[in-house]
Amino acid sequence: MEPHTTPGTAPKVRARAVTRTFGHGTRQVHALGPLDLDVQHGEFCCIVGPSGCGKSTFLRIVAGLVRPSGGEVELRAGRRHPAAMIPQDYGIYDWKTVLANVRFGLDVQRVPRRAADARARDWLHRLGLADFADAYPATLSGGMRQRVAIARALAVEPEVLLLDEPFAALDAQLRTILQDELLAVCQATRTTALFVTHSLEEAIVLGDRVVVMSARPGRVIAERRPPFDRPRTGAMRRAPRFAALRSELWELLRDEVQRAGAGAAAPADPVSDPVSDPVGKPS
Ligand code: ADP
Repeated sequence: MEPHTTPGTAPKVRARAVTRTFGHGTRQVHALGPLDLDVQHGEFCCIVGPSGCGKSTFLRIVAGLVRPSGGEVELRAGRRHPAAMIPQDYGIYDWKTVLANVRFGLDVQRVPRRAADARARDWLHRLGLADFADAYPATLSGGMRQRVAIARALAVEPEVLLLDEPFAALDAQLRTILQDELLAVCQATRTTALFVTHSLEEAIVLGDRVVVMSARPGRVIAERRPPFDRPRTGAMRRAPRFAALRSELWELLRDEVQRAGAGAAAPADPVSDPVSDPVGKPS
């Protein structure tokens, strides 16, 4: 299959024939690929696929946390920090204050303390956390902890923000609010985003492009561009085109989810949670 790319522009992320295998011998798992994908500068690219198809593995390869077994990933670096990742469990440190958590990446970069504090406070302000700088994460709600994780990732001004189901543990209303905040921040800062989600709705709401992966070993099998102008509002969810695209994506995924088999993680109930429509169950 041709790599998914926009002709004539140099992509921010360029993945070619990326594979990853874990383990050896009879215990070997072909987790990923070969996967080809280009992500353009400033693009918000959502990835959906069956559980266990290698989505997290791919993000971790782009982040430089895992080496590919084959192929290559290029991240076109400018002057900014290459990549920052927000993992599923937020990845914030309970023993550090909110301010110290947000400053963490800047400390690693050896940004002078005063400048790092100022930048961290600016991000706390942007994400509505200014009054919680000295609090510890354990005293915060799930939504606030997630904001801390977003602030920390964005404070290093990454070229690419990598998000691995960051809102999966949040309730539907809070998820909608954080989706809006994330989109606004990424657009304001022209940050390229790669966003893995189980929810087709979330992918359509957020994505400039929705990339569909096959069952393991995950490859790109299709992509769609949600036909909605920005800023996207809640009303979009009720548009017939929204339902049509969601159905189309589900059709693309259905066989892959079945191939992924009964071993896939049990999804949340899409009926009781209207914003969530996990990949793993027709809705
Ligand atoms: P997804 O994010 O799509 O659910 P993952 O990337 O987490 O999928 O995992 C893909 C496959 O690779 C799964 O079968 C998983 O068990 C396996 N895998 C992921 N990381 C490791 C690891 N560190 N060691 C062994 N197997 C792994």
